[in-house]
Amino acid sequence: MDTYLALDMGGTKLLIGELDKRGNILKYKKYDSGYFNQQAALTIIKESLDDYINTVGWTKNKPIAMGVGLIGRVDPVQGIWLQIDPSRSQPIPLAKELVDLYGIPCQIDNDVKSATRAERHFGFGQISKNFIYINIGTGIAAGFVVNGRQIRGSHFNAGEVGHTQVGVNVGIRCGCGRMDCVERIASGIGFDQCARFLNQQMETKLHIPTDSGERILVNEVFALSQKGDPLCVQLVENASQALANLIMNLVRVSDPDTVVLGGGIVSDGYMHSQILEKLNPTTIRFVSNGVVLTKLNPDFIGLMGAGAVAMNV
Ligand SMILES: [Zn+2]
Repeated sequence: MDTYLALDMGGTKLLIGELDKRGNILKYKKYDSGYFNQQAALTIIKESLDDYINTVGWTKNKPIAMGVGLIGRVDPVQGIWLQIDPSRSQPIPLAKELVDLYGIPCQIDNDVKSATRAERHFGFGQISKNFIYINIGTGIAAGFVVNGRQIRGSHFNAGEVGHTQVGVNVGIRCGCGRMDCVERIASGIGFDQCARFLNQQMETKLHIPTDSGERILVNEVFALSQKGDPLCVQLVENASQALANLIMNLVRVSDPDTVVLGGGIVSDGYMHSQILEKLNPTTIRFVSNGVVLTKLNPDFIGLMGAGAVAMNV
């Protein structure tokens, strides 16, 4: 049986696993991955792969291909990891380096684009050729599948929809230079920034850490919001309206029949129900399969995405 080696590199954790061609995860191991630049990340990738091979090993034969999902901008054609963000740009020919080291053909891609590939191959892509996958986690980004093909753009930068304004005004400047990008309102980072900003005017029982390295817990915001906590009610109202507006705007762009949501902010279903209440029926009338949560396990969609990258699907 042919298998594929998958590596999902997030900001704080790294998953390595072996998958079969249906996307079933046969074995996996989790590693810490705190890093600040691509060179440091490369060292972590190599050390973790070496450990995986020594401690977990192959299920049977050596995998026939390897796929890697990475944050930032990735050229999947040349196999080059271009940058983490505009301030951290250190292009690395990662695919070639890994082929040379491990002797396994290697493909790489951006993490949300990889997750979209998992959705396309193992998830809603089985019933839809026109869908949008929106990842709402630490940040916000989307993958567009139009007529069965995934949109890439001229610089592999399509789908960075977190940096669009959606008519919800809080007064927070984004790192990209614009005000109130949806990522600053409805992502993990956004909830934290809005809580700190609006806390000056509103009462709350929410724990807001003073240590700048720590973020508020979004689950706590959801629980307090349901109890009527004024700040948390406002945070959920802003974020769900922002996401509903984002979804409706994107639906008008590519005319999908399915919108799939994934990522830590929506995984428990609470935000999903809040968003659904705010969608205008006329705007989403052709989204016949609905605005739905991914059916792929949110903890492993990145690893399955890296598997899809390995399969080159
Ligand atoms: Zn922005």
